[in-house]
Amino acid sequence: MSIADGLAKMAENVVKMNANTMQMFSRNPRGSSYKTYSEAENAKFGQIRKENHLGPVLAHAPYTLNLASPKPEVYEFACMVIKEDIARMDGLGIENIVFHPGSHTGIGPDKGIQNIIAGLNQALTGKENITVLLETMSGKGTEIGVSFDELRAIRDGLKYPERVGICLDTCHVFAAGYDIVNNLDGVLAEFDRILGLDLLRAIHLNDSMMPFASHKDRHATIGDGEIGIEALLRVMEHPLLRELPFYLETPLDDKGHKKEIEMIRGKLGEG
Ligand code: FE
Ligand code: FE
Ligand code: ZN
Repeated sequence: MSIADGLAKMAENVVKMNANTMQMFSRNPRGSSYKTYSEAENAKFGQIRKENHLGPVLAHAPYTLNLASPKPEVYEFACMVIKEDIARMDGLGIENIVFHPGSHTGIGPDKGIQNIIAGLNQALTGKENITVLLETMSGKGTEIGVSFDELRAIRDGLKYPERVGICLDTCHVFAAGYDIVNNLDGVLAEFDRILGLDLLRAIHLNDSMMPFASHKDRHATIGDGEIGIEALLRVMEHPLLRELPFYLETPLDDKGHKKEIEMIRGKLGEG
């Protein structure tokens, strides 16, 4: 969905697609501009969410944000954006905001993790209602968040860890080397051991164009990638996951997503 659309328009679109939850960008995903919404717009958004019983709304911070960066100008900008967007999305009554932990670009994961911790600590007041979600990453380049241990290390350093949870991206974990195709139970047991399943608040549901453990981040439409429809249905129907909100990030437009949702609902017997 386009950030240029109003909030209410986005929610209306979601309902038309026969979805029951939505993800939106907190601001321009590849830039830094954002729209401010009027009280009336926000009220209408709330009304549509309520009337249609939409599940938790997820805001996604810009892809360009790098809270692990050793470059002062990049880091300071990331600190400002994450702080502003947590507050802005919290103000809109949005339940969760997800961001990519960042890329260390050569200083190593440990120093990158320290930067992320400091960035989150300056951004959070502890009084928010919104939960900040760290996304599991594929590990392309010098990305942090490729292992559950790295995500745990970030959370362990926080002043307000209770404000921070995890968003699991099926494409990313598969590309990172977590075998959700052949050993979903094992992956969930490991997640539970290292992070605790109670921290899992959202699933990004994507197939992967790239093979297992490739450390490449290329989303495929559901059933058309290396993960496959059977494995993704097992994720959706898993007793430990089925109550979570699922968000599609497949390379389709609104019309395509409507069809994809219809296909998934059919397979799940919700048709
Ligand atoms: Fe993401
Ligand atoms: Fe994702
Ligand atoms: Zn991705």
